[in-house]
Amino acid sequence: MAVLNIIKEGDATLRKTSRPVEEITPRITRLLDDMVETMHVADGCGLAAVQVGVLRRIVVIECEIGEIYEMINPEIIKKSGHQEEAEGCLSLPGKAGITSRPAKVTVKYTDRKGDEYELTGTGLLARAICHECDHLDGKLFTDKGVFLREMEDED
Ligand code: ZN
Repeated sequence: MAVLNIIKEGDATLRKTSRPVEEITPRITRLLDDMVETMHVADGCGLAAVQVGVLRRIVVIECEIGEIYEMINPEIIKKSGHQEEAEGCLSLPGKAGITSRPAKVTVKYTDRKGDEYELTGTGLLARAICHECDHLDGKLFTDKGVFLREMEDED
């Protein structure tokens, strides 16, 4: 496994739309391994492939330690409710803002073995699913016009 470089705000790649994965090749499974490793090292709870410069519809999420979701071609199929919480992004280090997100979302995705799943998440998991899926369409949480502050522990 390898730790990949996370691209930052200002890099035009972050604004591009990612393409669906048509075939799960060894290159895709290696990318998943590397994305999980990179997310751990960066101490984040989610990472989209576009953030490591790969324009494929792939995200990894780990809101609770040890509970890792690897999602290929994720698609949000149900949303309900509303929540406003603080959010950040590994591509926007030092920034945080309050975003409005659904309280509950259901996402459909394929895992690395090619099996299809549906996952319903609330709270932080719902926010993470929305945040990472937004990345696949070139969107950042700051697009929502949220209040931003510089975090105190910024390097
Ligand atoms: Zn992000």
